[in-house]
Amino acid sequence: MNFIYKKALTPEQLMRNRYEAFVNKDGDYLNNTTTQTTFYDKTHYLNTEWLKLDVISAKDNTVEFKAYYREDGVIHLLHEKSNFIEVDGMWKYDNGELFNSKIGRNESCPCGSSKKFKKCCMKNQL
Ligand SMILES: [Zn+2]
Repeated sequence: MNFIYKKALTPEQLMRNRYEAFVNKDGDYLNNTTTQTTFYDKTHYLNTEWLKLDVISAKDNTVEFKAYYREDGVIHLLHEKSNFIEVDGMWKYDNGELFNSKIGRNESCPCGSSKKFKKCCMKNQL
């Protein structure tokens, strides 16, 4: 299957495209847009359902974001500050710093129910 992405003129656009590629389980796009040699392995993500992306800030070659996903009924938060690098006129993901953040009890639930997290999927958390 071929997925279409916007041309990534900025690190933020590439970040958004790569999130979409995770949603699509599109390993080709993910592997082609990173400097890393550890390639995307879709078997790691068979049970992963991506729910939501929030870009917190985008400055120079850095994008900070929160991505929410569900695995086996439990919602997880990936909070990362990613660094991008331009290689031959193409932005690529280079590396990232992970934060150990938790989903706030009073945040709107990442599942999209528009209820507060504590009144919704937090009940299923471990
Ligand atoms: Zn929920």
